[in-house]
Amino acid sequence: MDGIDGERGLRLYDTLRGLVVPFEPAGKPVKVYACGITPYDSTHLGHAFTYVMIDVLLRWLRRRGHELRYVQNLTDIDDSILRAARERDEDWRELGLRWTVRYVEDMQILNVLAPDLFPRATEAIPEIVASVERLLADGCAYEREGNVYFSVAAFSGYGRLSKLPREEMAEVSARRGADPNDPRKRDPLDFLLWQRQGEDEPGWSSPWGSGRPGWHIECSTMAGRDLDGSVDLHAGGADLAYPHHESEIAQAECAGGSAPFARHWFHAAMVRHEGEKISKSLGNLVMVRDLLEKVSPDGLRLELLDHHYRSSWQFSADSLARSEDLAGKLRSAVSEHERSDLGTEPWDPEPDRCAFARALDDDLQTPRAVAVLSDLADRMLLASRGGRRLSGAGDLMRDLGGRVLGLRLTQPGPDEEVTRIWVGHRARFT
Ligand SMILES: [Zn+2]
Repeated sequence: MDGIDGERGLRLYDTLRGLVVPFEPAGKPVKVYACGITPYDSTHLGHAFTYVMIDVLLRWLRRRGHELRYVQNLTDIDDSILRAARERDEDWRELGLRWTVRYVEDMQILNVLAPDLFPRATEAIPEIVASVERLLADGCAYEREGNVYFSVAAFSGYGRLSKLPREEMAEVSARRGADPNDPRKRDPLDFLLWQRQGEDEPGWSSPWGSGRPGWHIECSTMAGRDLDGSVDLHAGGADLAYPHHESEIAQAECAGGSAPFARHWFHAAMVRHEGEKISKSLGNLVMVRDLLEKVSPDGLRLELLDHHYRSSWQFSADSLARSEDLAGKLRSAVSEHERSDLGTEPWDPEPDRCAFARALDDDLQTPRAVAVLSDLADRMLLASRGGRRLSGAGDLMRDLGGRVLGLRLTQPGPDEEVTRIWVGHRARFT
């Protein structure tokens, strides 16, 4: 690849090993699974950070010549959807579809590439039931009164991903809606694979009676089904490591299941606002739509990219305004350079291209990659003020800033590819 150091390759932190390691997929294509949203509310800044970081990682893998098969799911049946539907007296399916369409629009506005497959949990019920049956047959699960629980005692590796002590796991899972004191559980950390239908709740038939799947079994089932049993890169927000991803590993690998379920775990850190993690339950949400009334999609993307994906950070309106200024500078550099009255100055793009590649290969250091482009824009503007154009600098900016970092620069609206694939997915929801 032009000017990109192919010897060293991408090195990326893997949550399971707790180390920055070479990214080594098992084969071609690279099989990617990202946990998608539970559609019951608007896209907030935390979602935007997670999906923009995944987007840049996947754009960089593509730029490095990898072919991808990318699945992102929708958790379209969940306690939070049913609760929101009850509060609004709205059909839970309609509520889920409404917020899914909104999410798809937000991803398009942010120029985030769409997954190849966008499966819904409610469309995978027969496969989920089959997964639960296999876990029961293998002695990894047990049934009580129409509920089926995963038995953590059957999987010695439980806790290996999150590295949390048992007491902390119990606290976190309780905060996420599990009930460690459920008397039907053999162990407080056992989790629901299948949940008996409650009053006024939807249900699907199963060998254990009418009910619905647990959250974790949906993802390990859909990942296994759509990616042929194993995943090269499993991605999501850091708050999913436990219990969600920990439990996905247990389900997939218990009793002779295929191991490793995922070769590489990628987690985007939490965004904080007013001192706390941004979350609906804490009431401190910063919505993407509200921010986009004040800044451009490029400005918001640059603000997200100015933070390394593994560092939790605090939202600041001042910092966002500076990112919007930077978006304006990059745009000016590109459009100034396209003025027809400028003379051409021979210029070597390789040092910038290499510095940019080294930054992303070094555990996706997007702040350093953004700094390379900011510095390049300064030099372009200086040259154009002197009546000169650095030959090839505009193309380099469009290539690295546009194709890799997903900025639109002087182009209106999202990439054609972004629109085409999301619109195709969206057609299934309207
Ligand atoms: Zn998931």
